[in-house]
Amino acid sequence: MNQDVYIALGSNIGNRADHLEKAIAFLEDQMGIRVITRSSIYETNPVGYVDQQSFLNMVVKVQTTLSARELLDVTQSIEQQCGRERDVRWGPRTIDLDILLFGEENMMLENLMIPHPRMWERAFVIVPLKEIHPTLYAEHLGQTIQEIYDGLPDKEGVWIWNPQTMERKSEPIESSKDIRKKNLQNK
Ligand code: ATP
Ligand code: CA
Ligand code: CA
Repeated sequence: MNQDVYIALGSNIGNRADHLEKAIAFLEDQMGIRVITRSSIYETNPVGYVDQQSFLNMVVKVQTTLSARELLDVTQSIEQQCGRERDVRWGPRTIDLDILLFGEENMMLENLMIPHPRMWERAFVIVPLKEIHPTLYAEHLGQTIQEIYDGLPDKEGVWIWNPQTMERKSEPIESSKDIRKKNLQNK
């Protein structure tokens, strides 16, 4: 059966955009995986372990006939082929692929948790996910991705990134101007 799956990608070492592209090319080459939609690339401030380079992040939607465990094997092998070394948790990495959502499945295995348990509070995940599927309903929270996005406090650390100029587009994702506009509309 074809499952709709959302995968988050992140890189903060070396040529970050190249790592994202290479990982997507590996996904496309894989039997049983079809890349359906990709978000823009975003540049994001590191969270958690903050003393490191900023990240490029994005989310892709794929369809797959693989099981969730088989897909995890694939994503981990892509991480290895892109030269990822595992040392500091949440530390610098050439590429990170996290399976966010796998159809309607819920899984709580030690090496595979679906939905990804930390995705909901991460602007670097929710902002690109909202771009490609705002109406997606997160059953666990009883909210759509748009509603989760609206409730996220710190979208300031997330900028759309321009692959041509290799620079941030100047305005942060939710500028104070937008917030003021929204507040005025709510009055
Ligand atoms: P975080 O999971 O908070 O984003 P991380 O991506 O830095 O942190 P990793 O070192 O990449 O963490 O992964 C640690 C382990 O997480 C992996 O060995 C993998 O087995 C496990 N894991 C659990 N659930 C998932 C998931 N949904 N997608 C990818 N890996 C997962
Ligand atoms: Ca991660
Ligand atoms: Ca990971």
